[in-house]
Amino acid sequence: MNLRTPISELTGVGDHYARKLEKLGIKNYEDLLWYLPRRWDDYSHLVPINEIRPDEMVSVKGKIWEISNKRAKSGMNITEAIIADDTGTIKATWFNQPFLTTTLKADDEICLAGKLEWNRNSVGMISPAFEKINSENEAELTHVGRIVPVYAETEGISSKWLRSKIKPLMKLIYSIRDYLPEEIKKEHNLIDLPAAIRQMHFPENSSQLKKAKDRLDFDEMFLLQLAVLNSRKKLNRERAIAIPFNEALIKGFVQDLPFDLTNAQRKSTWEILQDLTKVAPMNRLLQGDVGSGKTVVAAMAMINTVISGNQAVLLCPTEILAKQHFDNVQTLLKPYGMDCFLLTGSTSKAEKEDLYNKIREGEAKLIIGTHAILEKGLEFWRLGLAIVDEQHRFGVGQRAALRKESLSTKTLPHFLTMTATPIPRTLSLTIFGDLDISLLNELPPGRKTIITRLVPNEKRQDGYQFVRAEISKGRQVFVICPLIGEEASEEMDKKTVMAEYQNLTKNVYPDLKIVYIHGKMKPAEKEEIMTNFRAGKFDILVSTSLIEVGVDIPNSTVMVIEAADKFGLSQLHQFRGRVGRSTHQSFCFLFTKSSNEQTLKRLYALVNTNDGFKLAEADLEIRGPGDFVGTRQHGLPDIKMSNLMNLVLIKKCREAAVKFLAKNNLESQTALYEKTAMYDSILSLE
Ligand code: ADP
Ligand code: MG
Repeated sequence: MNLRTPISELTGVGDHYARKLEKLGIKNYEDLLWYLPRRWDDYSHLVPINEIRPDEMVSVKGKIWEISNKRAKSGMNITEAIIADDTGTIKATWFNQPFLTTTLKADDEICLAGKLEWNRNSVGMISPAFEKINSENEAELTHVGRIVPVYAETEGISSKWLRSKIKPLMKLIYSIRDYLPEEIKKEHNLIDLPAAIRQMHFPENSSQLKKAKDRLDFDEMFLLQLAVLNSRKKLNRERAIAIPFNEALIKGFVQDLPFDLTNAQRKSTWEILQDLTKVAPMNRLLQGDVGSGKTVVAAMAMINTVISGNQAVLLCPTEILAKQHFDNVQTLLKPYGMDCFLLTGSTSKAEKEDLYNKIREGEAKLIIGTHAILEKGLEFWRLGLAIVDEQHRFGVGQRAALRKESLSTKTLPHFLTMTATPIPRTLSLTIFGDLDISLLNELPPGRKTIITRLVPNEKRQDGYQFVRAEISKGRQVFVICPLIGEEASEEMDKKTVMAEYQNLTKNVYPDLKIVYIHGKMKPAEKEEIMTNFRAGKFDILVSTSLIEVGVDIPNSTVMVIEAADKFGLSQLHQFRGRVGRSTHQSFCFLFTKSSNEQTLKRLYALVNTNDGFKLAEADLEIRGPGDFVGTRQHGLPDIKMSNLMNLVLIKKCREAAVKFLAKNNLESQTALYEKTAMYDSILSLE
């Protein structure tokens, strides 16, 4: 047997279990060794029977005096055994496990682990964990009398079963190659990998277990940091077009704006325009809470690029948003006599072909669009700058698709991604570690804090009244319909939107002008609705999550979210960000019928803070990082949450990785390099 032996060859596994294990990603012996416990039960406290104290988790060793099954009045099967050692006896009771009497017999040596408890007038151990002792396991027990591992269990695979299968594989443990260089282990006081894996499964004691965890936590973060820094190094070897900073142009542009830029906008624009002047491709994230004014920063970067004779492209997650940006940018560009082109899923085939040609030949310089931009057939003549708005809405692969070589220059574009979802500091040092970040940490002046209220069902009418009052002041309202099911289908969304629309027009606001929008509509139809709503022709827009991101209609001041409990915190914050975009007081009403404490707590987090950063950290804790990187579906390696939140560990590993890469070429360290490869998919993030 060796590490590569198929799992089905392991004694007691067979085809049936092999299939179950495969679902856990376990195909061979090595995979099983890497299937590490989620937690441990400490059964290591071995005591003589007469020294057991109530409510203390202990193990005892002894001989079974007697064991038998009996049936209770309720029909339940009860197995009772008396176990004795030199100091006394103890009773053990198990329920509904009649087969126990076929494995455990009088005179068997046994080890029990549990607590002393009262059960119907007698004291003993209730359903203790146990292991029969024989000449083979005498020296080292597997399930009791020690710290025992508890694994993430799936149907039909218990921790007990896993332990008994992993135990014999310990013979192979020293064939696992330790990929970590000696000097690093020495410097950070880390134990060897085989020892660490061994201690994880069958710890000798808690201090050995701690050393094992330290080693593996270090590995996880160190490998991630190596991958991050190395991808950065690789990118720095690539080339982009150096785009000169056209100071006169930008000054004029800023002067013509109807508002003054915030300091944060100025600083970010400066950072971006500086990056563009370099031949190393920019890889920058513009992070700013909803409403902080990212668009105008992006527009300046695009104009500066296009004026110098290069192309720029802006990718948006929805058609509505693409159209909104297109309209805005076109207006901004008019004075400069520049054409802007829109490319979306509803661009006709003929138009598309024509536009493709123009882009290929460099005639179309500024392109705004949706996923249609990512199609394989689209090639750029000389793409200077690619921007992704609401980057978290795109998958890794999609974003990577924009990073292609231009036909004429063979260069990569400078890359700018934008998001309102703030990245917790720990993530910005890890998963986002190879990004430069520009921060819009202030909102344009005069914005009032959005007032957020949780509206339980019995207060619904009051909520409706309040909304009416706002409308009579001339404001407009969004109503977001609930999400149904995990993977809401557009068909389903359409139904809920229609139902809500009917309800509002018939029962609540028969006198008001209400319109609805959903994903099943034709793009032209959607566009018309948005244009009319923007022009103030309707009071209320009933929508699906279609308008979650980017939509900017400053006269809308009320956001009503039905069944708010169905949405994640970050998503709710995005919805809320559709209002509060003018100097009017804005409101967000979270309707919920839920009385679940956890749910309400989550929603109150939103009521209590408008700070997207705090919400993002809360969301990170609740839902994990998948949603931040937009890669949940992409099968990324599972990074332990506790490690991702551990700033001390992150910093230590980062320093170690920097130091290592300064002296070594990662690619030449085969074992280490192979190991980091599993993180590459995270890091093709840009
Ligand atoms: P987001 O960061 O959410 O994408 P937008 O770019 O859509 O925000 O900007 C939100 C609104 O604020 C827009 O109506 C925009 O015109 C306006 N805006 C942007 N910058 C400023 C500013 N410095 N002063 C006043 N209004 C601004
Ligand atoms: Mg935006």
